[in-house]
Amino acid sequence: MLKGKVALVTGSTSGIGLGIARSLAEAGADIILNGFGDATEIDDAKRAIESEFGVKARYNGADMTQPEAIASMISAAEEMGGVDILVNNAGIQHTAPVEEFPPSKWDAIIAINLSSVFHASRAVLPSMRKKGWGRIINTASAHGLVASPEKSAYVAAKHGVIGLTKVIALETAGSGITCNAICPGWVRTPLVEKQIEKIAEEEGISIDEAAGRLLGGKQPSKAFATPEQIGAFAVFLSGSAADQITGASLPIDGGWTAQ
Ligand code: NAD
Repeated sequence: MLKGKVALVTGSTSGIGLGIARSLAEAGADIILNGFGDATEIDDAKRAIESEFGVKARYNGADMTQPEAIASMISAAEEMGGVDILVNNAGIQHTAPVEEFPPSKWDAIIAINLSSVFHASRAVLPSMRKKGWGRIINTASAHGLVASPEKSAYVAAKHGVIGLTKVIALETAGSGITCNAICPGWVRTPLVEKQIEKIAEEEGISIDEAAGRLLGGKQPSKAFATPEQIGAFAVFLSGSAADQITGASLPIDGGWTAQ
């Protein structure tokens, strides 16, 4: 379905991004992985995508806090034919009350979780407009729609991503380009594992009990969503059935934001 398309997934060396990259590859897209991590593990992930799905896979280690690095990653993608599907997914988390929140963490979360979406989107739009086709899919969060305590920077960034998604959707409407935000609830990735460990430590309970407490507090289904489910949704948004879905913020959150 996506044969001949090139998908760049930021923050795809782990978790949801890797799930999305693998799903897009399964649907036939060539893939550019991005993110940090162990060089051997990244190489293994790249090779697995090529051998399992018969597509091309590349890796670019651009730091998403650096606008110049983002721009050169997108220029480098020209060698593969240019980015047709941009998934803005890189993200980090830090939890603390506002008055204890380190300003350096605030700046980093805004840079990676919000500003990188602007920098990457502005860099891909000219070639998408020339082709008359493109998909920008932003991994926002249930925290783009509702708030929780101790997540000021994250909630501000994710609400910002949803606003930016709407603006890009309006500016590109009718051009063959769509821009949407996926809003996952809890997905058990390294980003969430750290929060589970923090609950276990603070409350003196097991990791399993802490995971149950995390889910029970927010997600009525009491089950984690998976990177594969988020990936399957990104594939749907990339297909022609989703041509008229744009500017939307779509929860995959077990009922979290229905409350
Ligand atoms: P993760 O920690 O498994 O993955 C984060 C990815 O971002 C990694 O590949 C990491 O290397 C990359 N990254 C971090 N800083 C970077 C930087 N400066 N430059 C380039 N890459 C960088 O976390 P995840 O849970 O898979 O999160 C992915 C996205 O999903 C994030 O935007 C997160 O906010 C969002 N999200 C996660 C959940 C969840 O429950 N896990 C829920 C809603 C939204």
